Order: sequence, then structure tokens, then C-alpha cells
Amino acid sequence: MKSIRIKVYGIVQGVGFRPTVARHASVCNIAGYVCNKGPYVEIKAAGTEEDVDSFVDKIKHEPPKRSAILKIDIKDTDPEGLPDPFEIIESKKVEGEIFVSPDIAICDECLEELYDPNNRRYLHPFINCTSCGPRLTILDTLPYDRPRTSMKKFPMCPVCEKEYYDPASRRYDAQPVCCNDCGPEVYIAGTDIKGPDAIRAARDAVSSGKVIAIKGIGGFHLCCDATNDEAVKRLRELKSRPDKPFAVMMKDIETVRRLCVTDPAKEEILTGHNKPIMLLDKREDAEGDIRLSQFISPGNPTVGVMLPYAPLHCLIFDFMDDVRVSPVLVMTSGNVSGAPIVKNDEEAFDMIGSFCDLILSHNRDINIRTDDSVTDMLDGRLYMIRRSRGYAPLPVMLSNEFEGQVIACGADLKNTFCIAHDNLFYPSSYIGDLEDIRSANVLKASVAKMNTLLETTPTHAVCDLHPSYRSTQLAEESGLPLIRVQHHYAHILSCMAENDYSGEVIGVALDGTGWGEDGTIWGGEIMKADYSGFTRLASIVPFNHCGGDIASREGRRIAVSMIGSIYGEEGLSIAEKLGVADASMYKAINTMIAKNINTVKSTSCGRLFDAAASVLGIRNTSTFEGHAATSLQFAAEKYKGDIVLPDLKLTREGEGRILLATDDILRYLIEHKLEGTDSNYLARLFHSLLAEAAAECVEKAAGDIKTVALSGGCYQNKLLLQETRTRLEDRGYKVLIHSVIPPNDGGIALGQAVYAMNLLTKGG
Ligand code: ZN
Ligand code: ZN
Ligand code: FE
Repeated sequence: MKSIRIKVYGIVQGVGFRPTVARHASVCNIAGYVCNKGPYVEIKAAGTEEDVDSFVDKIKHEPPKRSAILKIDIKDTDPEGLPDPFEIIESKKVEGEIFVSPDIAICDECLEELYDPNNRRYLHPFINCTSCGPRLTILDTLPYDRPRTSMKKFPMCPVCEKEYYDPASRRYDAQPVCCNDCGPEVYIAGTDIKGPDAIRAARDAVSSGKVIAIKGIGGFHLCCDATNDEAVKRLRELKSRPDKPFAVMMKDIETVRRLCVTDPAKEEILTGHNKPIMLLDKREDAEGDIRLSQFISPGNPTVGVMLPYAPLHCLIFDFMDDVRVSPVLVMTSGNVSGAPIVKNDEEAFDMIGSFCDLILSHNRDINIRTDDSVTDMLDGRLYMIRRSRGYAPLPVMLSNEFEGQVIACGADLKNTFCIAHDNLFYPSSYIGDLEDIRSANVLKASVAKMNTLLETTPTHAVCDLHPSYRSTQLAEESGLPLIRVQHHYAHILSCMAENDYSGEVIGVALDGTGWGEDGTIWGGEIMKADYSGFTRLASIVPFNHCGGDIASREGRRIAVSMIGSIYGEEGLSIAEKLGVADASMYKAINTMIAKNINTVKSTSCGRLFDAAASVLGIRNTSTFEGHAATSLQFAAEKYKGDIVLPDLKLTREGEGRILLATDDILRYLIEHKLEGTDSNYLARLFHSLLAEAAAECVEKAAGDIKTVALSGGCYQNKLLLQETRTRLEDRGYKVLIHSVIPPNDGGIALGQAVYAMNLLTKGG
């Protein structure tokens, strides 16, 4: 006889989890019960050892389709008084243990009903059920019941009501349930056109090359035909966005297969219930007559693809009329660059009205705005770039016995925040770049909202060291005691935390820019770290960063500065030969550096990438963050031959620490570029040399530590990531990398929160 208590965490509410567990119990002859407890489902189970084991196995491997198990916690328990046969027990809310579900994409059953002329929800743009539909975005307060959601203004018709209260119905307890008789309605904003006519008008517009805005689940998208060069070009002009890739929505997985390279693991995520945007390689041998416009992601071998996740998206692709809509549509966030995604008609007219010809809206309010998540895949595993819709605010759980509540405000680029409550960490939806005051305001409002939803009252605020970050100011204004965490240390902590690793690591943070403890700009750092602190052991060679933010748009400026310090007098002719800068720019920058005007010391790895892209003639300036760095990566990926590392000394002592000899790496690139060596090869070599230098540094600095964590925005670059990881693993290290938390600044808040919770628990 064996009896256990199981806690299952994750998306386990409102997805038919309890009936599934009860079914497994009856198959396995298990006595006991299952019960919803807010953030988890509790199961008590008793039976023979063999039966209990196979029961646990079934829960793990045959959960309901829409569920997502984050963690299963199993302990022995007393079999006394457990019901036999197995029972489903009504939910009891546990004080302080809250679960907020992410939004769930339309399920197959609803999709079938949507296009079934005999179904009463035929073509209903808001069809949903117990296992799909909006959750977080329609929430007002908890618990998640209709009167506390955007659905409160739509009373259910008698038929919907019957389904809602019938445990046997697919829509039992589905809060957003509605139908053509009682639900919200779509319309063309600013006109009288509504219902099916509105959908027809939108389809007409898209198919005739116009740009439209569509209100979705977490905000508005701007949409146009992604196969129509003119339409895409026009959207670029309207949005003043010359190069940054647009995400596309494809009608179905067949279209994705035709245009992109996929595999089973990718398709599982693409078609799953989260429906993120996934970066896929474009197929060069794409068959058929559909062609992705060259203006979707210029100069980029990948494209961000998602499948329709709201019923309204499906209706845009397929509707009962004669209009033929392209199976590939641009679906880019409806916002002004850096500002939050717009969520109501007023904001839509105000901020994106001039970017589009028509606004397809609806009257179900979006309470919490949530951008699409963006993810990459590595070895069949998710590698998150932007964690938002479908994922936020699922918590990250740590094994540590933390106690307390904190709010971590994140960084200013790609802002997200994180609320921690004991060992649960809730990273927020993506907010935006706080340089835009509207994003800062949304951050403030969202923090308040999430504190209400999670019933948290943080006692401490956590922020970056950067004195002029808006996120720092917001933390200061909270009036709470402040805990400040260095930017790159927070990156490393976020990687450790998502791997639930609380020992000592060597952290390799290759990043854009962050405020260093010495007041200089950091960004290429190797440190010894655990949850209670860090020591900087190594960095890339500091260079002069001249011109503030202009330097991040003009990577050539960093190249000029580095050429100046490597070559001195000779530098000018080299810069001219490489096409990095002309004499006047070269002299102006080096004069400013000599006089120390608007110049700071920097070890930013992101800027080093920009400089390398410039000296190799790949890209001198950027029109979006990461433009030059990704161009360098794509060039490197074009080189398919072998790499033999040249005999170069890659580390040395200096500045009181170990230095990655990045100046010598750059000098090597320059000399071989001048000799006429292929830029793609040199770009590839740059990745290998940088990774090898990092690995050598780790080896020199690690001592007894055998675990390395890789984080920072430069690790969005999978070539760099794989190069570093392989070189470390070859040396016998265990390497922690990101998966569900982004390596970029979108992950910082989690790291900040972990540091603070450890400090508060240990008594700092
Ligand atoms: Zn459904
Ligand atoms: Zn109804
Ligand atoms: Fe960063």
C-alpha cells in the first residue's frame, strides 16, 4: 500500500484537469481525491505501489491537451479517510495562493464549430470554451468569474447559460462563453458597419492591398497582405520602420511548411495553445505561387511566424464570401515604436489611426494589454525572446524556502516587471521601452493591477543600478525600501533561477549595455555569482564609447574609437580603406575621445558586435536595436566551411582582472579584411574567437566551480550561444542556458526579484 499527496502546478485550471485525473484514478484503481487549490491542483492518492506509480506516470504523460504542467510535487501522506472510489472535490480557495491563467488560443473543437453551418456559434468571432479563450487580458479582479471580467456587460442568453452551468458541457464554467445572440460584436471603428459586414469590409481591404488595424486578444495588430510588396512597403513607410522585421500570421500549418523550415518540435509549439511568434528559416525552395514579400524581413534569413489564435483571426483568413485573402498576413503590434501596444479604440485612433486605412474593432474590453510572445527554438526546446501572451503571468517556481513579497521593476529596454511571493515569481507581460513615457505609465498601472490580481503587497522594490532608468525612478517613487541589483548580475540570476539552480556559478553575461558598479558601461562580463552576490572576474577590453545613444545606432563610431586606440596615427587610413568612416567623422570622434567629451569607458559586447559588423563592411549603422549585430550573425551563418582558430592569445591580465583580448580579435579581423579575406568567414571566425576567449576566461577564473550560466542580449544570437556552450562543455562544465525567460533585458526583473527574496529571507 502506498499513499501520496501530489501538487500539480501550471495551467491546470479550467482545462479539464480534474476529470482527467479522476479518469486515470479509476483506470489505476486509485482511492482518494482531486481538488483545485488556486495556483495548483492537489491530489491525494492511495493504492498498491505499482498502481500509484502508473497513476503518477499517467498524470505526467497524459495530461489534458490544453494543460501545461510546470512542476509536480510529490510527498508521502496518510491514507486515513481518503474517499474510495476516487472523487473530485469542490474547490476551496487557499488564502494568498493565486493563479492567474495566461490567454489560451482557440482549440480544435471550437475551430470546428466556428465553421460548422449547423452550429449555433457558426462564424462567431468570440467563440471559446472551458479549454480556450482569453483569460488574463479580460480580467478585472480575481477570482476569475464572469462578473470580474470584460464579459460582465454581456449577460448570457438562456442557451449559453445552460451550457455554462452544465458540468457535462464543453463550456462548463467558461467565463467568456457567449454566442451570436449574446456576445460582444465586431465593427469598423468610426462607422455603422458591424458584424459580418465589418469582417467582410476588413477582408476586402486586406485583399486589395490596404493596411488595417485589428483588435485581437491583448491589443491591436497592424495587418496587410504579406505577399504584396507594395502593401508591405507602404506599411513600412507609414510606421517609419525601414528594416525591422515584421511578424506574419499564416493561415495554417501547411502554409508554414510551404514557406518555412519546420520540424515536429517547432510545429508542436506553433500549433499549441500558446501560439507565440516563432522565428523560422525561410525556405529558399518554397513551392507554389505564394511568395513572402522581400520587405517582410529584409536581409534576414528568418521570419517570425504565428498561427491564428483568436477566432477573429481565423475569420479574416476564411469567411463565407467570395473574397480571397492571402494566406500570409503581416501582423505587427499596433503601436508607435517603443510605446505599448494599443488596446482600445481611442488609443487606436490616436496612435495608429494614421498608419491604417480601417480599424476592425470589437466591444470586448482588453483589461491587460499583452503583446505576442516571440520565441526561437534550440535543440527542440523553447528559447524565448519576448515572453508575453500565452506565457505571462505563469510563475517561475524555485525550490528555495523564500519568504516575503517584492516588486522588481526590470530594466528600461524591453521592460517587464516581476512580482515575487515566497518561492513563486510572476514575470509580467511585455511592457515596452520605457524611454517612451507612455510605456512608463503602463508599467506603473500594470504593477498596481498585478498586485491586485495576485493579492500581493510588496514590502520592497527592486531596481537596476542605473540612476536615470525610468524603472529605477518608479521603484524610488514607490516609497518602499529599495534594493538595487547590477544589470548583468541580474541577467545571470535570471538564468540561474529559471534553471532552479541556487549554487555557485560562473556567469558569462554578453549583453548590450548596463550600468556597472564602477559607473562605467558594462556588457561583456564574466563573474562568479550565487543568489547572494557576485564578483567581477573578467570582461572584454574596455573601449571608449563616444556619443552616447547615437553610438548604438551608428556602430561605426565604436569601430572608429577602437581603430583609433589600436592603430593610433595609422588609424585614419585604415578606417577610410575599410569604409568605416571618412576623415571628418574619424577626426571628430577621436578628438572628442581625446578631450574626454561625451565619452565613457565601456565593455559592451553588443557594441563590440556593431564595431565588428562595421569593420567587415557588413553594416555601419542600425535602424533598430540589434540590426548590425544580427547582420553580422547572418553573414557568419552564410559561411559553411570549417573553422580553425588562428594562433591568437585570447586572454590576458589587465585592469585588475582577466581580459578577453577583444582588441586583438578586432585587429585580426581588420588585417585580414584588408588582405581581402571573405567577410562571411571573418564574421564566423569572430563568433568562434569570442566564444573561445570566454571559455578560456572561465577556465582561468572558475576554480572549483563547474557550472556556467550564459545570459545577456547577445545570447539571442544562437550561433554565439552554441559556440560558447560547446567550448565550455568540451572543458567539462555544466552549462545553464535560458528557455522560458528571455536572455535579453526582458528577463532582468526575475533576476532582480530572486536576489531580493534571497536577501530578505536570509536577513540582509
Ligand atoms: Zn475551445
Ligand atoms: Zn448566448
Ligand atoms: Fe541587458
